[in-house]
Amino acid sequence: VFERDGYRCHLCKRMTKRGAVVPHPKAPVIDHLVPLGPGDDAMHNVATACFMCNSKRRDVGPAQLILFG
Ligand SMILES: [Zn+2]
Repeated sequence: VFERDGYRCHLCKRMTKRGAVVPHPKAPVIDHLVPLGPGDDAMHNVATACFMCNSKRRDVGPAQLILFG
């Protein structure tokens, strides 16, 4: 997924830091576009995000879970 997206965060459109690991705010992480349901790990349901954006999204997670639940 990182290679497909060119290591670019799909939320802030900035480049993640290739090789950085997760405590680093610019570390590349896999973001699930639809949090729950079948095909959760399908390639079209995942996108590259930086750890900082992914953490922010997780803050509003419960609302999204209700929305998609
Ligand atoms: Zn980002």
